[in-house]
Amino acid sequence: MIQPSDPWAFDEEPVETWAEILGAQAPDLLWLSAFLLLALVSFRLRSVRLKYATLVVAVAYMGFAKSHLISVTNIFSLIDGNLPVFKYNLAFYLFVAFTIVSTILWGRLYCGRVCAFGALTQLMDATLPDTLRVNVPRALERRAAWIKFGLLAATIAYFAVTRDMLIYRYVEPFWMFGMFATPPLWVGLSVLLMATVFVRNLYCRFLCPVGATLGLLSYLAVFRIKRWSECHTCRICQKACQWGAIDGPRILVTECVRCDDCERLYADEAKCPHWRILAYRQRKIIALTPVPHGASGGRAQSP
Ligand code: SF4
Ligand code: SF4
Repeated sequence: MIQPSDPWAFDEEPVETWAEILGAQAPDLLWLSAFLLLALVSFRLRSVRLKYATLVVAVAYMGFAKSHLISVTNIFSLIDGNLPVFKYNLAFYLFVAFTIVSTILWGRLYCGRVCAFGALTQLMDATLPDTLRVNVPRALERRAAWIKFGLLAATIAYFAVTRDMLIYRYVEPFWMFGMFATPPLWVGLSVLLMATVFVRNLYCRFLCPVGATLGLLSYLAVFRIKRWSECHTCRICQKACQWGAIDGPRILVTECVRCDDCERLYADEAKCPHWRILAYRQRKIIALTPVPHGASGGRAQSP
């Protein structure tokens, strides 16, 4: 009996073209690109309105609509070499590339405007009355910031030993956007959100393993926030920073999420002492400059 050369008809299987692959993912890619562009524009313009618009979209679109968040599970996949197939997950790779590149350029921009959970707690912070806030003492805040690095190391070590990916549910609350969890996890999340009412950005500042990873990557940041020489003594920005990311003249790159608050302050000539001191020096120089012979009232005479 003569066997057919292709008994399973593999040769007849249709081959997908890139046009078809891109077409299927185009809406996702476009919406994600538009959101990331909004995040970048709001950051570059230092616009408060655009920043809050970005945070609202982050919660609604990136969180509840899409559940697009960087997670420790992505670190697990990287360790396992088990990453999603590139051509079918273009939006995912665009998202990851944006997160890594923006962190290397500016620091934790992802945490400041893109992460849906961080956006949710920032919106809580903006809407809840200030009187509810408990100011964490500086020394305690500095120590508590280390917890997230310990949690990151412990989570990765646990995964390396057990290969149990489900550990992610206990170290990050991002599952809330997909609405799937057990009752004890919902109770834990409620406690976390209640605590966030009193301690602003609690999870992001002290507990998040992804924030810790991006904080470490931020050491590579190319474009950092500049500081004036007056920042050694003036502590206005340190008090204004809601992330505990300013320590005297230093910006703590692992904690800073590029929220812009201090940069708007630096640029404010009415509030930042740098500008007032500069203006005072200029007035002094003008006052000490000898008036040229023939000049009247410090003004040049017309011929
Ligand atoms: S610290 Fe974590 S939860 Fe907070 S914004 Fe960054 S990734 Fe999101
Ligand atoms: S206030 Fe400044 S130092 Fe603090 S998080 Fe925002 S950008 Fe970073």
